[in-house]
Amino acid sequence: MRLSRYFLPVLKENPAEAQIVSHRYMLRAGMIKQQAAGIYSWLPLGYRVLKRIEQIVHEEQVRAGHIPLLMPTLQPADLWRESGRYDDYGQEMLRIKDRHERDMLYGPTNEEMITDIFRSHVGSYKDLPMTLYHIQWKFRDEVRPRFGVMRGREFLMKDGYNFDVDRESALHAYNRHMVSYLRTYERMGLTAIPMRAASGPIGGDNTHEFLVLASTGESEVFFDDRVTSLKLGTREIDYDNWDQVAKVCEEFTTLYARTDETHDEAAFAEVPQEHRKVARGIEVGQIFYFGTKYSESMGATVVTKDGTKVPVEMGSHGIGVSRLLGAIIEASHDDKGIIWPEGVTPFHVGIVNLKQGDAEADAACEALYKSVAALGLEALYDDRDERAGGKFATMDLIGLPWRITVGPRGLKNGVVELTSRRTGESVELPPQEAIERIAGIYAGI
Ligand code: ATP
Ligand code: MG
Repeated sequence: MRLSRYFLPVLKENPAEAQIVSHRYMLRAGMIKQQAAGIYSWLPLGYRVLKRIEQIVHEEQVRAGHIPLLMPTLQPADLWRESGRYDDYGQEMLRIKDRHERDMLYGPTNEEMITDIFRSHVGSYKDLPMTLYHIQWKFRDEVRPRFGVMRGREFLMKDGYNFDVDRESALHAYNRHMVSYLRTYERMGLTAIPMRAASGPIGGDNTHEFLVLASTGESEVFFDDRVTSLKLGTREIDYDNWDQVAKVCEEFTTLYARTDETHDEAAFAEVPQEHRKVARGIEVGQIFYFGTKYSESMGATVVTKDGTKVPVEMGSHGIGVSRLLGAIIEASHDDKGIIWPEGVTPFHVGIVNLKQGDAEADAACEALYKSVAALGLEALYDDRDERAGGKFATMDLIGLPWRITVGPRGLKNGVVELTSRRTGESVELPPQEAIERIAGIYAGI
C-alpha cells in the first residue's frame, strides 16, 4: 500500500476522551472512530489488525478440529425464554421489537441458538464429538463502556460450543479449547495466563479466564510469577490425544493463578514469597464446561451407544477478538506509539523514502516495494512528499515492527537502513539483503 493513496487519518494531539494508552493510540493511529458510546467504526488500519487477529483465531480453531459457521446477530426472544435467560439477563441485553411486535434481541452470546441448531439436526452419539464456532458481533449494553474497544457495547467475539456424549468427552473438549487458546494468544505475541474463574450468567462450575497482565486491566489477579514463563512454543499437539492435551492443561494450571473472584488467601500464602504477585489483568477469553444446563431445558438430546437418550453435554468458549487489539497494545507499546508483534501487524514492513522525487530514491523504494510483495508480504510505503521527521513519527505511532529507510546518501554506498521498531536498532544493508532479512523474520511466524 502506498501511503499517498491510503486512508490513515492520524491525529497529532492526544484525544481528551481516551484514558488508557491503547485507546489513545488506536484513535491517534486512525484505527477506529467512535460512533456512539461503546460503538466503533473500524478504519482501514484498525480493520487490518482486526482481520489478522480473526485469521489467527480461525486457524487455531480449525487446527483443533472445530467447525466454523455463522449465526445472525439478531435472535428471537423465544429461544431465550426456553432457557430462562430472557428474564435473567437484565439490562445488558438489547431488546428490540420488529414490525409485527415480535420480541427480538441483539445477541450477547449464542448458547441458545447453537443448541437450537444442534437439536434440529443431530440426534446420535455417532455425530459426536462436535464443536461449532463463529466469529460474530455481539451487543451488551454495558453500564460503563470505556477504554475504547476494550469494553465496547458492540464487540467482536469468537464463541464456540462443544457437544459431547458424556462428561469425560466434554472435559476433553474443554482441555482442547484451553490448549488451542494458549497457542492462539502466543501467536499474537501475548502471554495470556489461564486463571480459575467464576462462571457468571453462562453457568457451570469448570471455567478458566485467560488474562493478559497490564496495569490498566480491570481484573485484580493473584499468581505465582513462574506461570508467566510457561510457553507452548512450537511443540506438536495432537488434539485427539486426550492425555497429551490434559498434560498441557495441567502444566499451565498447576501454579497458583486466580482472579479476585476465586482468590483463596490460604492457598496463595503457600506460594513462595518471592514468586507471589498481585497485579492487574485484561480478560481476553474464557472457557466453560456447563454440562446439560442448556440441552436439558431446550431438549437437545442424543442417543448413546446402548440406545438411551441423554441430554447432550456442552461447554462454551469465548475469545474477545476486538478487545484483543487493546490488550496487545497495552502489552506492547512505548512513548512513541504502538509496537505490533509480527503475528498481527497491519503491514509487515514500512518503507520510508527520505527524498521523494529523487529519481534514485524513488526507484529504489519502488523496487523494494515490489520485492516485499513478491514474498507474499505487505509493505506500507510512505511515498508522501513530507519531512523525514514526520514520516518517522507516523511509522513509530502505527507501530510496524520493521522499517526500511531509503535515502540518496545511503544509496550512494549501496545500502538502505533496516530498523526494528521494538529495539530501535538499525543496520545498513544492501536492499536485497534487507529483503532477505524480512523474509527470514516472517518465515518463522
Ligand atoms: P467481562 O467480565 O470483561 O465483562 P465477560 O466475562 O462478561 O467479560 P464473556 O462472556 O466471558 O465476557 O465473553 C468472552 C470474551 O469476550 C471475554 O473474555 C472478553 O475478552 C470479551 N468481552 C466481553 N465483554 C466485552 C466487551 N464489553 N467489550 C469487548 N470485549 C468483551
Ligand atoms: Mg468472561
